[in-house]
Amino acid sequence: MNKNNLQPTSTLSRRRFLAKMAAAGTALGISTGIDNKTAEGAQPKPEQINSNDKKIFWGDIHNHNAVGYAKGSLQRSYDIASSSLDFFCFTGHSQWHDMPKMPQNKHMKWVNGFEVLKNNWPNIKNLANQYYQPGKFVPFIGYEWHSSDCGDVCIIFPGSKATLIYTDSIKDLQKFAAKNDAVLIPHHPAYKLGWRGQNWSVLDTAVSPVVEIFSEHGNAETDRSPYRYIRHSMGGRSTTNTLQWLWEQGVQVGVVASTDDHLGYPGAYGEGLVAAYADALDRTSIMQAIKAKRTYGVSADRIELDFRLNGNWMGSTIPFTPNRNISVKVKGKDVVKSVEVLRNNQVIYRDHPIDRPLKSPWSEPVLCRIEFGWGPWAALEMARICDWKFKTVVHGGKIISALPCFQSGPYDEKRRNKLSIINDSTCEVVSYTSRKQAYEERPTNSVILEIKGTPQTTLNVNLTEPQKLFITKSLEQLAKDNNITFTGPFTSESMLMHRLVFAENYNTEFEFTDKSNTGKTDWYYVRVEQTNGSLAWSSPIWVTNA
Ligand SMILES: [Zn+2]
Repeated sequence: MNKNNLQPTSTLSRRRFLAKMAAAGTALGISTGIDNKTAEGAQPKPEQINSNDKKIFWGDIHNHNAVGYAKGSLQRSYDIASSSLDFFCFTGHSQWHDMPKMPQNKHMKWVNGFEVLKNNWPNIKNLANQYYQPGKFVPFIGYEWHSSDCGDVCIIFPGSKATLIYTDSIKDLQKFAAKNDAVLIPHHPAYKLGWRGQNWSVLDTAVSPVVEIFSEHGNAETDRSPYRYIRHSMGGRSTTNTLQWLWEQGVQVGVVASTDDHLGYPGAYGEGLVAAYADALDRTSIMQAIKAKRTYGVSADRIELDFRLNGNWMGSTIPFTPNRNISVKVKGKDVVKSVEVLRNNQVIYRDHPIDRPLKSPWSEPVLCRIEFGWGPWAALEMARICDWKFKTVVHGGKIISALPCFQSGPYDEKRRNKLSIINDSTCEVVSYTSRKQAYEERPTNSVILEIKGTPQTTLNVNLTEPQKLFITKSLEQLAKDNNITFTGPFTSESMLMHRLVFAENYNTEFEFTDKSNTGKTDWYYVRVEQTNGSLAWSSPIWVTNA
């Protein structure tokens, strides 16, 4: 993706979102599709968002490559990250002091990987500082520390200086982080204690303000949530190692998500991303957002989520008040199935944008996802890489934004996925797909186009690779019926132009007052679920005990 081209459009999209939200201030409250369980009725309320509006920035602060024991060059990681993310931390594998000996000496894979990181440490710091461009791309310096007994953490330094230390003590690492104003972010916390799950008894929230709720390992919200821990040898999710359990103990941590990708692909679609609400795109502002827990996690699509309580940002802790004015705004990237507000881990409010009737479908932009890939199924053993090149052209309408959804597999040092916006009617996509090494065997990539148009607007796809093909559809047709086009005879790859998603079904905002006096510190958070399985979780807001 060409970020220079995309940047203005994605910024425009964000501004449009905020402007629209502000303009809608007096029309808050939703009359349809709400399942209001226990809260006071949803009521139109004036806009609470104050003037110091912060922006959403997207990052991946936990990922790997061949500098360590994963795949791909460090340079390639930077190439991918700088073209698709706002902020980034390469967190190479550094040490595992209590590592078990593995059958067939497999633990040497780790031992050798740690050595590679040590040898490349000066280069890791240099690249992070060379690539730092405030306002455009913000890399941090960090590394990962493994521990069977304490659980894994990534250390992320705030500035241009960082030191690689070796220690077998989490307490020493915490002291070192505090001294350096760095953060330690626990990841895949839900593994069983002793099996690299987080040891909450040694958690220090002063240096670990946030915990990774989602990565390629799966979802740590609860032991029953979608996206189980299934892909590694550390077993399944332990109830007492999940986030809900931790919050129940009164621990105040926020959430982030990041890929933990091992194919050298930062920001890989479907493996987790973190969103931070910051004043500006620079190291200081992003680090402030992380320390303030003004962050949230998504599993795949970049769902925009704003959650406030009495005007306070997610991640805040506020003094006791019986009246909690809760306002939520969501802009999904597909049909939003539910937006849930939870108090003390129980849903107190549900909104279902999916059920909202279309009143004026063409007054707002529509979303069209163009997904491509598939090809020979695994049992045929015809695994291959398919190269894609196509242009999407809108006639009689405008492309408001274009978002890439590019996954990590298959690993390829040379090939790149690229989405370029040529102008406000044309995008170009260069990509590659394969079933081999596809995350969860999902052998597709996609782009999401946000289009302002009418039923007569046409969306054309000019495919040049793997096959010359021309597809033309009106938005009216795509509103009713998706389009599947094969690039050749049976088992060949195909393209799916998804059925349009209208604003009534991807956007929502509501506000209500919860009156609560449970006699303890209450925590509230928001969970979003799209029909395509994409999830988002806000950091909680705590209201302290009276
Ligand atoms: Zn990792």
